Amino acid sequence: MTLTGSCMCGSIAYTVEADTYVSALCHCNDCQKWSGGAFTSNAVVPRASFKVTKGTPNSYDGIGTSGKINKHFFCPTCGSSLYTELEIMPDMTCIKAGTLDGGEANFKGKVDVEFYVKDRPAYLVAVEGAKQEQLLG
Ligand SMILES: [Zn+2]
Ligand SMILES: [Zn+2]
Repeated sequence: MTLTGSCMCGSIAYTVEADTYVSALCHCNDCQKWSGGAFTSNAVVPRASFKVTKGTPNSYDGIGTSGKINKHFFCPTCGSSLYTELEIMPDMTCIKAGTLDGGEANFKGKVDVEFYVKDRPAYLVAVEGAKQEQLLG
């Protein structure tokens, strides 16, 4: 399967070659701050399958609750949140699913897991069938 995605202004684009991905919502405070939304939705893919094909994203290193670095990549022009690389998950890339093309943010209707559900806003309910994690896995 080939997935493609881009930022809002189109100056950054990427491609992924992977058999499948894990669909994950993250409700942690860093995701809220970084995205400006109540949570992030992520397509978690093998890092080796992910490639930036256009432009060069900026990055910001946040320190996770683990004390390890969470690298946040974003478009320097339009500010779109594109993907994160977590030091605690060195083989994976967490693509922010809203940047995927072709309606893939829909995850074909299935969310595999929700992280940091302790920080989920009270007005949201658990996604039916999604594994519920208090923290990150
Ligand atoms: Zn952009
Ligand atoms: Zn998060």
